[in-house]
Amino acid sequence: MNAKELMDLGEQNVIHTYNRFPVVIEKAEDVYVYDVEGKKYLDFASGIAVSALGYSNEEYKNALKEQIDKIMHTSNLFYNVPAVYAAEKVVKATGLKKCFFTNSGAEAIEGALKTAKRYAYDKNGAGEYEVIAMQHSFHGRTMGALALTGNAHYQEPFGPMIPGIKYAEYNNLKSVKELVTDKTCAIILEAVQGEGGIYPATKEFMEGIRKICDDNDILMICDEIQCGMGRTGEMFAYQHYNVLPDLVTCAKALGCGVPVGVFVAGEKCCESLVPGDHGTTYGGNPLATVAVNKVFEIFEKENIVAHVKEVGSYFEEQLEKLVEEFDNVSARRGKGLMQGLVLTTPVGDTITKAREQGLLVISAGSDVLRMVPPLVITKEHVDEMIAILKKSL
Ligand SMILES: *Cc1c(COP(=O)(O)O)cnc(C)c1O
Repeated sequence: MNAKELMDLGEQNVIHTYNRFPVVIEKAEDVYVYDVEGKKYLDFASGIAVSALGYSNEEYKNALKEQIDKIMHTSNLFYNVPAVYAAEKVVKATGLKKCFFTNSGAEAIEGALKTAKRYAYDKNGAGEYEVIAMQHSFHGRTMGALALTGNAHYQEPFGPMIPGIKYAEYNNLKSVKELVTDKTCAIILEAVQGEGGIYPATKEFMEGIRKICDDNDILMICDEIQCGMGRTGEMFAYQHYNVLPDLVTCAKALGCGVPVGVFVAGEKCCESLVPGDHGTTYGGNPLATVAVNKVFEIFEKENIVAHVKEVGSYFEEQLEKLVEEFDNVSARRGKGLMQGLVLTTPVGDTITKAREQGLLVISAGSDVLRMVPPLVITKEHVDEMIAILKKSL
């Protein structure tokens, strides 16, 4: 089938929740993807911040192939080898105590939310516990995660939302303080908001939230699903700040393509969930966790985080030049290899022009061009990207 036929067949059979770009991707190499017609694209989207290692890491691919030959799935009624090692690595990298593997980001959020509610329940008994989330946040599409997502447009057709969620203004500590009550059990935020438009938290905001949580015995949840795994130049974005959250969620680049997420709990709440409280059939299966293991090993061996710092600052400089040079680029925001350009002309037009010239970029919010390339890109890839972007602005 040609591209047109494939797209038509897809539209006939797949529920239309995405207005997809008219590209059928077939394969990839290095940091480039190829469509079914053989057209090559420099990938600055990486499957929405997932394919951090690019597409040609043989060690990663071989580990998965070998695991398929051993065993792919066991259920959580048994221990399995890769999950044990992967959990140790996740716990060490976050600085927290214990973790639980899930199949997606949204499920990691659900688990963190349940942990927070359970923590409050153990302390105070049954109650209408409240959670403070941020406006313009994004935490996923399941009912709990959706309730935490500060975007009325996503929620409206699916009400009522789970009760007790309040939304504060991001980077406005006063607006958070005003929402705290004796029923607040958690405050959840992204250290760099992704879908909401690539907004990094200020130092005062992150540290202020940690203090509010400490003063009131509230759990601080950092959603690192997009900004984690080295993307911002630290392994986790909260590590740019002088804070340690009580709960961390991670997914997207955690498996670099294998669907896997995790929530990680600190000292205070790592024993809150007890047998019978939570479960998953697939979560943490050997295929998913062998990927997690390899990803952490490769990150360490190849110094990925240090590389992101270096290429990220070069990337930032080049983007700043575009802000100076182009009237329709009003600002740059972001950290490391999670960058956004605020455009005053329709973002979709630039995305389309870039794609036609062989560059994949995406949007965030209504006016932000989002760039979340594989973390292994080089300065040459940045130059190649900037050259195409200039022609697309
Ligand atoms: C993508 C994302 C999620 C949801 O992850 P899924 O795997 O799509 O369920 C949650 N939080 C943030 C910050 C995200 O970027």
